[in-house]
Amino acid sequence: QQSSQIQAKHPRWVRVNTLKVSLEELLTTTFAEYEEAETLTQVMTASGSTKIYFPDSNIPNLLAFPPKIDISKFLVYTNGNVILQDKASCFPAYLLNVAFEDGDAIDGCAAPGNKTTHLAAIMSNLSPGNRSRKIIAFERDKTRAGILQKMVKLAAADKIASVKANADFLAANPDAEEYSNVSAILLDPSCSGSGIVGREDSVQMHLPDPSPQSIAKTGSSLNKKRKRNDISNTTAKGATTVNLALDDSTHEETPLEDKTSERLAALSAFQYRILTHAMRFQNARKITYSTCSIHFEENEGVVARALSSSIAQSRGWRVLTRAEQVEGLKKWERRGFWENEKLEGQVELSNEQTQTLCDACIRCEKGTEEGTMGFFVAALVRDPSLEVGSR
Ligand code: SAM
Repeated sequence: QQSSQIQAKHPRWVRVNTLKVSLEELLTTTFAEYEEAETLTQVMTASGSTKIYFPDSNIPNLLAFPPKIDISKFLVYTNGNVILQDKASCFPAYLLNVAFEDGDAIDGCAAPGNKTTHLAAIMSNLSPGNRSRKIIAFERDKTRAGILQKMVKLAAADKIASVKANADFLAANPDAEEYSNVSAILLDPSCSGSGIVGREDSVQMHLPDPSPQSIAKTGSSLNKKRKRNDISNTTAKGATTVNLALDDSTHEETPLEDKTSERLAALSAFQYRILTHAMRFQNARKITYSTCSIHFEENEGVVARALSSSIAQSRGWRVLTRAEQVEGLKKWERRGFWENEKLEGQVELSNEQTQTLCDACIRCEKGTEEGTMGFFVAALVRDPSLEVGSR
């Protein structure tokens, strides 16, 4: 009951894919009959047939539509001009704040590719056609890598983003020549999915696909492989809903609520490995770490432990403070929290350091007037003056 109420209020977030179309173009063509709402609440409480939208005030090129509108039936969705992406899920690529001077980027856990294509749009807009930089998108799961490839192509992100299919980010050599120009890394690893609206333990995504049969086929082989979380079914012409398994590394087969603490421990151990691995890339300067989990163990807990690691200390990694964040997110009020007892003496932070860390961590809560899913993101930066040996 409660989750359906939340779902009914959850707006449809639509990210304009600026690799293919501008916001202005979209508003004067497909959505020409739609009026700009005065508030997000107006959109959240409108019926599906009300032609209104609300431009987001934190993320550029993001629009909110009434909850019941089915954008997946629109041509602009099936042709990749817009991407259905929750507002919270747009935070990581934006927070990474890649600058013109920066080099290549890595997306370490990329499928289905919402954040890869968002990052591709941001990076392309920085240097249209006059500077060659690339995004290397890792995806360990073969089936998901196929979906990622399709999404990247459909979004016209394939000029800048190259997919490493069936590639384990943890197996990538941080000192390899091919990564020598990587300065930014986006990490959105598998998590409990506890922040997803209307779901407690799985990750759902909508995919446009010009050939629904191919995904249906993929879905059935996926079902054979996985026992619980994976289903795939076609919900609308040209659109497919796919539920992805949460985390292959844990191979859990019991519901989350039965084994919460063991499962969170396994997930956070994996997430810690991913984050500390990224810290090893020779020229990396910025990392974003995000999850669609509400649990401290997967969020602030992972960031705090990673920042206390020897690699973080030796390379001078620290959290990007709120004051340093990109404008649209600096003003986001919902911030991190601290549960000391869950770290069991694994990190030693002063009260002031804990406060700075929590204030730097961005959280989204589902079921609020902000209309987002539950989400967490933090950015880390490498500060040469903090490197051990330089002090
Ligand atoms: N960032 C994606 C997006 O916004 O569309 C969602 C990523 S999903 C939460 C996590 C993905 O990471 C899964 O597809 C999973 O298969 C992949 N993954 C998990 N461990 C990985 C690893 N070690 N190397 C590469 N990919 C991994």
